[in-house]
Amino acid sequence: MNRITSCALIAILLGCSQVRQAPDESTKDSLAVAPIALVIHGGAGTIPRGSLSPEKEQAYHDMMKAALDSGYAKLETGKPAVEAVLAAIQVLENSPLFNAGKGAVFTSEGTNELDASIMEGRTLSAGAVAGVKTIRNPILAAHAVMTKSPHVMLAGEGAEHFAAEQGLEIVPNTYFFDSARYKQFRRSIQKEDVKDSKHGTVGCVALDKFGDIAAGTSTGGMTNKKFGRIGDAPIIGAGTYANNATCGISSTGWGEFFIRLAVAHDISALIEYQGLDLNTAAEKVVVDKLGAIGGTGGVIGLTRDGQVTMTFNTDGMYRGYKRHGEPAKTFIYKDE
Ligand code: ASP
Repeated sequence: MNRITSCALIAILLGCSQVRQAPDESTKDSLAVAPIALVIHGGAGTIPRGSLSPEKEQAYHDMMKAALDSGYAKLETGKPAVEAVLAAIQVLENSPLFNAGKGAVFTSEGTNELDASIMEGRTLSAGAVAGVKTIRNPILAAHAVMTKSPHVMLAGEGAEHFAAEQGLEIVPNTYFFDSARYKQFRRSIQKEDVKDSKHGTVGCVALDKFGDIAAGTSTGGMTNKKFGRIGDAPIIGAGTYANNATCGISSTGWGEFFIRLAVAHDISALIEYQGLDLNTAAEKVVVDKLGAIGGTGGVIGLTRDGQVTMTFNTDGMYRGYKRHGEPAKTFIYKDE
């Protein structure tokens, strides 16, 4: 199969770890040539069917659609992919449904500490913040690090100081409090469990009309995390990666495993060095390699030629995408 045919074929296949999601027949032609696209996640984890009430399910779908629409509106009006990523992630950070910004999970001390990163595929510019407690939208701070500083990652109080200097909104740590998350935290303390059963990190990858890719990720980390623990989300190459020559990736899951495998960059490297298509590369890393060392989670990704992946090795991943000529599509469980 020549490269163009194989790209077109891949572009009409969307996949998760067990099931490839094939879009409607009627949309196949436009998918192969889609000029702009956006894919998001709202975390992967143990989300068995029946665990959410119909109202809660609807609330997740609605909020993911709102994020997709907000990011896609930027792309449609010719804005760069980075702006679409910022728009979509801010919607999810501002919603208490997800473990990012408001509604973030709690540390062992009952506080919220947030991580975020962003990367641009054309220039390989990147920015990140880690362990911040007072920045209302950490993704904006990551972007400011990328665009307004000579650094890639700022942590803790220094990052907060920088964000304030850049005019970003600073809030008391209590702003992030959400009672449902707090109950989850109390349960987690009782079980002495560092890993959350429903993760909820958020991420977005966008492809703009110029053919540029951007990716971003934002999280509160893992429930009951201790000692200033930082996960994969702010680590370029683990939680986020973007390279126009290969793909954009945002990860979610048990961060320690994603760091050890440099998951986001590994998928990019498989495309670059082995010529794999995006979905095959993502499955190799998330299902085979991550699974082999006991890691759980998933990734979303996009390539310049319109391939999309939503691959995970858990019961579910809040996820969705929107491409040229199609309505936004959102999913929660593994078999849909
Ligand atoms: N990857 C995040 C972390 O380990 C958590 C998640 O995605 O749910 O901090």
